[in-house]
Amino acid sequence: MRLDLTPLRQAETPVDRQYAPEAFAHDHEDFRVVAPVLLSLVVHKDHERYRLVGQVQTTLELTCSRCLEPFAYPVAVPFDLRYFPEGADLAPSGGEEGESRVEDSDTSVSVYRDDEIDLGALMHEQFYLALPMKPLCREACKGLCAQCGANLNEAPCQCVPEWSDPRLAGLKSVLTERKHDDA
Ligand SMILES: [Zn+2]
Ligand SMILES: [Zn+2]
Repeated sequence: MRLDLTPLRQAETPVDRQYAPEAFAHDHEDFRVVAPVLLSLVVHKDHERYRLVGQVQTTLELTCSRCLEPFAYPVAVPFDLRYFPEGADLAPSGGEEGESRVEDSDTSVSVYRDDEIDLGALMHEQFYLALPMKPLCREACKGLCAQCGANLNEAPCQCVPEWSDPRLAGLKSVLTERKHDDA
């Protein structure tokens, strides 16, 4: 998943690649890549500086934060990234030294070494950026029953809701007393 920069001569070079999901099999447990990954970008070359503008597209498998079931999450993440050679002076003012990564106002700047850019790391980072804060299999996911653990999306369980609201606690005692009266 390396982009060899040495053959690039033109100012703009389109790059289109496809990777099998297995190529990402070593990835973290936050997500799983479950469809071919389509990477489409244009490499803008300005002497030793490169700018990669494009999109990475695939389907991730995430775990629902409510019902804990896996679900498919299609992503198409646009990116606009700049790469400077290792050791280049990244700071426009030339101030900070030893800085390997600086944040521009809108685009991030990374360094590349050995005349190649690690596209695997690029895609991995974009996937992480695309992850929702709170993954949900569906907007109205009912989640799991707090008492028996049943997935309430599949069927309601037989559990009686617990009286956890303090305002209802009084009502509960009234109902309990009434039950005793009936007996
Ligand atoms: Zn869910
Ligand atoms: Zn239950």
